[in-house]
Amino acid sequence: MASHPPLRIGVLNGDDIGHEIVPAAHRIASAAAQACGLAIDWRPMPLGRKALDELGHTMPPGTLETLGTLDGFILGPIGHQAYPKVPEAINPHPILRKSFDLFANVRPTRSYPGLGCLYDDIDLVIVRENNEGFQPDRNVVAGCGEFRPTHDTTISVRVITREGSRKVARAAFEIARARKKRLTVVHKNTVFKLGCGMFVEECYEAGKEFPDVAIEEVIVDTFAMKLVREPQRFDTVVTTNMFGDILTDEAAGLVGGLGMAPGLCIGRGDIAMAQATHGSAPDIAGKGIANPYAMIESTRMLIEWLGRRRGIPAAGEAAALMKAGIDAALADPATRTPDIRGTGTQTDMVDGILKFMENHAHAPA
Ligand code: ATP
Repeated sequence: MASHPPLRIGVLNGDDIGHEIVPAAHRIASAAAQACGLAIDWRPMPLGRKALDELGHTMPPGTLETLGTLDGFILGPIGHQAYPKVPEAINPHPILRKSFDLFANVRPTRSYPGLGCLYDDIDLVIVRENNEGFQPDRNVVAGCGEFRPTHDTTISVRVITREGSRKVARAAFEIARARKKRLTVVHKNTVFKLGCGMFVEECYEAGKEFPDVAIEEVIVDTFAMKLVREPQRFDTVVTTNMFGDILTDEAAGLVGGLGMAPGLCIGRGDIAMAQATHGSAPDIAGKGIANPYAMIESTRMLIEWLGRRRGIPAAGEAAALMKAGIDAALADPATRTPDIRGTGTQTDMVDGILKFMENHAHAPA
């Protein structure tokens, strides 16, 4: 019997492959929760192109208010590039991240045998600053951080704040403390003396609260090279938004591609958002071959995080059961999608995880 109030988790499919991989993640998390006596009140909510077609807005009125009452949510990939150019078709990403102050995007990279990983022993986490930096849709409260004063000149503004840098650094130190107690700060203060300079200063400031964690600095271009040649050298990494965007895709490439790149957006508040690194992959939508791993693992990370934050052991158990199921499915080509050297479909992979969990669940106390 659950001894905690049900966790309230929103389920927002997003676009394209989101309609396949989010229901898959939901199904698996639901089965794990049930097996472990974890009560979850799932709240499916409309968002994206389907919401535009059916309700007249990609983010229907009331979405933020409802999300604000939840413990967390799963956000599927958003294909906003394909939205019609109308005011009702907005990209919900930056609004969601900003509204809930989800300033740290935690993106793990891990090798699994047989998938085509470039190394067998990668296990690192890149913590990407989420709400400032170069991304012009999220570094201003109004207007856009990129503008064209004349036909021949474009100016892109990069925003770095002390507070934003300190917050993400702290989140990264906390993760590093729970891992190998080593944090790598990636930047380019040799050129961006003020912007990256401030980011680095704040990392060291935050580091004073974590004397048990060793801190090192690596310049971003050198890091990009070392990540390819010697990824095992890194454990926990923190960096600014744009660098993190690029480096996490590079890291995904080391372990089988974008289907293997999960993420959890966290902040100071009590709400977190599970969001895979990849986009909505319209090229493979509806074909049954999109790799659901990144979305399932992001959802698993959310449940684990909520369990730790709220002190709910059953959530930790459900996350562990999901992990065992994922590992088992990934170990067999028949229950893997083709992008990771599998011979199966997405349904085979989901069924493989569910079957393993069913056979290995202990009855909840
Ligand atoms: P965005 O800018 O929104 O992140 P993107 O331009 O990086 O999107 P994606 O939609 O991520 O593009 O797709 C890039 C490539 O990776 C495509 O060929 C796509 O099919 C592939 N891909 C992305 N996600 C998956 C997945 N889950 N499984 C298999 N292939 C994927």
